Amino acid sequence: MALRNILTDRDPQLRKASRPVTEFNDRLFTLLDDMKETLELANGVGLAAPQVGVLRRLCLVDTGEEVLELMNPEILETSGEQDGIEGCLSVPGRYGFVLRPNYAKVRAQDRSGNWFEVEGEALTARCLIHEIEHLDGHLYTEKVTRYLTDEEMKEYGVEG
Ligand SMILES: [Zn+2]
Repeated sequence: MALRNILTDRDPQLRKASRPVTEFNDRLFTLLDDMKETLELANGVGLAAPQVGVLRRLCLVDTGEEVLELMNPEILETSGEQDGIEGCLSVPGRYGFVLRPNYAKVRAQDRSGNWFEVEGEALTARCLIHEIEHLDGHLYTEKVTRYLTDEEMKEYGVEG
């Protein structure tokens, strides 16, 4: 495994739409393993392939219990609403409030290409939607209603 460099929001790659994953091979497994290591070291809850410069539709989401590997994910259903703090490994040192659905159901393929469905609430729903938006070239900063001040970052215990 190897660490991958995380692109930051000035990189034009992050604004491009990713193409579907079509090959479920060793190259994909290496990318997934590298991304998992990168995500862990960065202490994040999610990471999408375009963030490491690979314009393919795949992402990782840490549910707190496991790290989901999602190839070609699609949102099937959302409901409810949550207003919470969001950050992104590609936007270091900034956090903002983003209104999101409180529930999301997603369909995706695993690393063998088998389709499955996964549901998430609260932070997991937020993360699923955030990561899938990366695959269409969108960042959460487009949806922020207000960024946290330095004081608030201390108060909420997030790193500035
Ligand atoms: Zn992000």
